[in-house]
Amino acid sequence: MSPVDARTPFLVFAAPDIQEEEIAEVEACLRSGWLGTGPRVARFEADFAVYQGLTPSQVAGVNSCTAALHVSMVAADLEPGSEVITTPLTFCATVNAILHAGLVPVLADVDPLTQNIDPEAIEAAITPRTRAILPVHFAGRPCEMDRIMAIARKHDLVVIEDCAHAIETEFRGRKAGTFGDFGCFSFYVTKNVVTGEGGMVIGQDAAKIARARTLALHGMNKDAWHRFSDKGYRHYQVVECGFKYNMMDLQAAIGLHQLARVESAWRRRREIWQRYDLELDPTALGLPASANADMRHAYHLYTVMVNGTRAGINRDTFLDRMNQLGVGTGVHYLSLPEHPYYQQRLGWHPEHYPNATRIGRETVSLPLSPKLTDADVDRVIATVGRALEPAA
Ligand SMILES: *Cc1c(COP(=O)(O)O)cnc(C)c1O
Repeated sequence: MSPVDARTPFLVFAAPDIQEEEIAEVEACLRSGWLGTGPRVARFEADFAVYQGLTPSQVAGVNSCTAALHVSMVAADLEPGSEVITTPLTFCATVNAILHAGLVPVLADVDPLTQNIDPEAIEAAITPRTRAILPVHFAGRPCEMDRIMAIARKHDLVVIEDCAHAIETEFRGRKAGTFGDFGCFSFYVTKNVVTGEGGMVIGQDAAKIARARTLALHGMNKDAWHRFSDKGYRHYQVVECGFKYNMMDLQAAIGLHQLARVESAWRRRREIWQRYDLELDPTALGLPASANADMRHAYHLYTVMVNGTRAGINRDTFLDRMNQLGVGTGVHYLSLPEHPYYQQRLGWHPEHYPNATRIGRETVSLPLSPKLTDADVDRVIATVGRALEPAA
């Protein structure tokens, strides 16, 4: 394989699409002198609430999805040591947040086709200590929320949805994040709406969201904006031991314009997804499951499977070749039981979760940024073809 032409820049995986509006808003924010949590966060929360069909009291901006997951679990008031069932095919933050909340993560394997947590595996994982289910809408495809909510009702469990991939996701006409008690979103640089670092927690119960908001700012009952605004100084009271998880106006300045373009970016990713489906179908790769008629897929990740027997090369060789040929890729995810910390602390073994383990060892995410030009997409497709060619 010849090295990449020096004139062709490396195609970065999941580069954010930052436009002049975001740059101007960040500059205006800096010039306003108000960088911390203030009017831009309030506007971003209000816009996000509208997008999700909620009121502003049902959303709270935070500084990451990890923070959103953590404060949700604290606000859910689960007794220490309670078990929370989640998927092995997720980012480590999902499980770390459970541990930080003093709870015990329990894994239920994924469906091999949808790559989402399997409701039957959830049922099988329930014990007398189970108190919550934490489904992840993987790659932007909704979990089977009707079955998951039925299990939750039957066993009186809290449901916290990890919507880090799923801002645009719907299941049977209803938005992801609005089924459970809490929905947690990420605005990290690779996600569908970007604020740099950032997150949002949403919920049907405004009192629980108010608690999450308090927990995200030291446990103080009034935020600094209200304290120092022109309405005059007001004392705050610390009502519980909170965290430092608030979103800044600087972050919201980016998010406001990203959110305004969320639908056009979604349409562009869907277009790219459809091209990949068409052009990669004849290759030896396994392609991601298509969206069913009863769902809206967020098209966050386009994950192909490199099966060594079928493709003639293993996943890591494919990754190396793509990289050498100048196209960045990702892995979402090596299943969590592959990591030594969880093996040691929780006794997890990859072979207990065969579907997630196999997917984690075969999966590769191709670039799916709305910023990709048609020529970039052609290049990804051609590069996949070259990477799969038998070695000369
Ligand atoms: C990115 C991600 C998170 C963490 O989001 P942050 O905003 O970076 O904290 C959690 N869960 C999943 C599935 C993610 O992809």
